[in-house]
Parts: sequence; structure tokens; C-alpha cells
Amino acid sequence: MEISYQSTRGGEAGVRASQAILKGLAEDGGLFMPTFIPKLDKSLKELSEMTYQETAYEVMKLFLTDYTEEELKSCIERAYDSKFDTEEITPLSKAEGSYYLELYHGNTIAFKDMALSILPHLMTTAAKKNQVKNKIVILTATSGDTGKAAMAGFADVEGTEIIVFYPKDGVSRVQELQMVTQKGDNTHVAAIYGNFDDAQTGVKKIFGDKEFAKKLDEKGYQLSSANSINIGRLVPQVVYYVYAYAKLLENGEISEGEEINVTVPTGNFGNILAAYLAKQMGLPIKNLICASNDNKVLYDFFQTGVYDRNRDFILTSSPSMDILISSNLERLIYLSAGSDGKANAELMKSLGEKGSYEITGEMKKFMADFKGGYSSEESTKAVIKKLFEDTGYLIDTHTGVAAAVYEQYKAETKDETKNVIASTASPYKFSRNVLEAIEGKKETCDEFQVIDRLAGICGVPIPQAVEEIRTAPVCHNTECHADQMKETVENFLGKIS
Ligand SMILES: *Cc1c(COP(=O)(O)O)cnc(C)c1O
Repeated sequence: MEISYQSTRGGEAGVRASQAILKGLAEDGGLFMPTFIPKLDKSLKELSEMTYQETAYEVMKLFLTDYTEEELKSCIERAYDSKFDTEEITPLSKAEGSYYLELYHGNTIAFKDMALSILPHLMTTAAKKNQVKNKIVILTATSGDTGKAAMAGFADVEGTEIIVFYPKDGVSRVQELQMVTQKGDNTHVAAIYGNFDDAQTGVKKIFGDKEFAKKLDEKGYQLSSANSINIGRLVPQVVYYVYAYAKLLENGEISEGEEINVTVPTGNFGNILAAYLAKQMGLPIKNLICASNDNKVLYDFFQTGVYDRNRDFILTSSPSMDILISSNLERLIYLSAGSDGKANAELMKSLGEKGSYEITGEMKKFMADFKGGYSSEESTKAVIKKLFEDTGYLIDTHTGVAAAVYEQYKAETKDETKNVIASTASPYKFSRNVLEAIEGKKETCDEFQVIDRLAGICGVPIPQAVEEIRTAPVCHNTECHADQMKETVENFLGKIS
């Protein structure tokens, strides 16, 4: 059955999947959502016998209905290959009663690779299908991980330029080095003096600028997004939840149909929304535990029904979750309002103008399977240390937030349902904070000394992605103010005015 996409703000409908991927964001500023959420058409038993790539096809074919089987399979084959350093693509590790779903075995050692390995292929296929003549300019705001994963995915992909904005003091040293050493003539990156929300707001503003779009079009460019506002990011993320369940079943850890919980360290709400979509497709998931760091706007929201971004932005040791405007929550709000674009648009207007909105009791009930929690810097560090000392298993700071929140959840609810934690980054990506957590003291030595120390302690080999940046030359050094992002884009594209 053909699925079409519509804007969460009601202004656009009847958009095919490939068009939604090309556009990224709807013209009215909304996010694209399918008209309905398809059900899995293979049994869990059948899925349990499939490889990651086969599972990816079974899930993605249901959402991306205007891609042919051949097109979709070709995208999948090219994305999920030896770029990943494990054959299973997303291995599961059991430690202290939870299953850690390791989503960080791709090129840039964070879970963003799961979707950004395939997005460039989906995008270029979509451009061909829709006879797009323009060059596609991928415009992306990053809290650290999307930027590198998007640049790596789009580097030297014909017909594309990739532009990334990241918060100057808001990313880890490894994240920054990964970005500024990225090769490829079509890759551009700028640090902005501001935080992630400034970068994301700036990008959304450029997307909404019709005059700029016209100017770009005259020069043979059109914009798209590699952020999780793009449905082409979200759909590939549904896959690993289905795959994880299927592997637990295959390994006899659960029985067919048994419900599991998932705990997701959350920032922009993309990853956990993908788990929600998996549940709506029929995957037996009970609760979706939404883990925040000190920027606990989502925790407060699930507690009270009020979303309020009017608060201080806190820089934490889990920088990829330092976000006060979780874009993808809009998709859940929309669904909870009965797919009423107008009602959702009102709330988003209030968010834009007042920085807050409140949902109805009914909407709150709709999302009762989301359980919010948050972890302070102290408790995140303590969990990383304890898990490592007890089991030898090392997790990064973002995954640490999830592990800590899950511990609290279990203590409060006594819920013994088996739990999968989305493990979103290699500990090496946040080596300094991870090492400090284990040793319990501040580290003053240089980044690569920290990395080598960590390797010595934990015995996990240093990933290729980290070895690469040890000696790689810096190729990008642009910095700008948040209100100069449009000019910066123009400069990158070679003065288009
Ligand atoms: C992006 C990111 C997150 C947050 O994911 P969202 O989909 O934005 O909620 C968590 N951990 C890491 C390591 C990330 O890169």
C-alpha cells in the first residue's frame, strides 16, 4: 500500500516518501509524517532469522513505498557493509541485567551512522527518481555527532554539498577534530558562537526563507536536511529496534511476543521516536524510557504536560544531548493530537513565541508509555564507574545517562521487564569524561594521552575513527555568529548573490 507524507503543521500533504526525503522539512516549517504507521508484515519468528540488511529491507519497504525493491536493496547494501566493524552491524551486549544495543560500530563511532550511512543513498536515489537537476545542499545543525556522520556520508557524493554548523564550545575534542579534519571537496563546516539550539534554530530559519530558496534555485541549488527532522533519518532508525528484538528472540533471551522496555538517551527525540514507531508497527515494546541529562526539559514535560524551554542551557559531559528544543517531539505531539496539523501548529507557534506550550490531558494519556527520567553528572559518572568495575563493560557518557535513568526507573517501579538500552556512542568519543568517571578525578593531560590511558585500562581496541584523527590535517577553520549563518552558507557555495 502506498504511503504518503504530510506536514505535522497541516500545510502540505500527499507527498511521496522520496520527495519528503529530498525536502527534509515541510514548507510550513512542519515535519513530515506518514499518513499511517504500517504494520510489520513478517512474523517476529521470521524476522529472527534475518540479517541486519534483510531486516532493514523489511522495515524500510513499508515506509518508503515509492522506492523500488531494487533501489531500496541497493541503498541498504551500500550503507550497511564493511564500514561497520562488526558483522551484526548492531551487536547486543548483556551487562548488569540490561541489554546494551551497540549502535556505534560505524564510521564515526556514534549511533548517527546508523541512519547517515544510508541517507546519502536514499537522497541521491530520490533525486534521480524525481528528476532533480539542482545540486542538493545538505544543511545541518549538530550537537557533535550528526555533523561528522553526515559529512562522512556525503563526502564526495556527486550532486551534493554538505554544510554543518556546530556549537564552538559545545562538543567534545574528538567530535570537533573529527569534523574539522573531514576530507572531501563538497564538505563545509563552521563553528558558531552559540549553543546547539542556536544552530538548529538558525538552520530552520534558512529553510523557511523563501527568497533565499529562490536565489539558490537560480544558481542551481536546493536545500535538504540531514537532521532527524528528515524522515529519511528516522526510518532507518526503526530497523535496529526490530533487529534487536529479533536477535533476543533468536538467542532465546525472550519468548515470541514477550514485551521489552527500551531506554534511550535522548536529545532531539529522534532515536526514541524511532522506537515508538517500531512499537506502533507491532514490535512488543512496553515502555519507552526517555533519559535526559541536566537539560531535563523532556523529563519535566512527561511529568507535567508542559514543555518549557525557558531555562538555562547546561553544558554537560553528554553534549549530544544538550538540547532544549527537541525537534522530533513535534511528531509525537502531532500524533497525540489525533494528527491534527492545526492543533499542533498552534502549540509550535506558542513554543516559538513564548518558549512553552501545554498539552491536553487526553494528549498526555496518549503518550503514557513514555517514562521520563534524568541523570545528574554525578550519577552518570557513578554508573559508568560501577558498571565497569563490576562487569568490565565500558559505556560512554550518553549511554551512562540512560543506564542511570533505567536504574532509577527500576528502583521506583519494580518493573522487571527485560530492558534494552540504546548505546549511542563509543566510550572513545568522550574519552576524557569516561576516564574521569572511572578514575574519579579531573584529567589534565592531552586528548590522545587520555585515549591511550583509557585503552590501557579497559583493553578495548582504539577504533579506527580515533586513530585517524591523531595525525589528520585540519581542513576547516570557519567560525561565525549565529546570525551570520546565511552569509556563511553563501560563502561556502561561492557567493551566490
Ligand atoms: C544524537 C545523540 C543522542 C541523542 O539522540 P536523539 O535522536 O537526538 O534523541 C544521544 N547520544 C549520542 C551519542 C548522540 O550522538
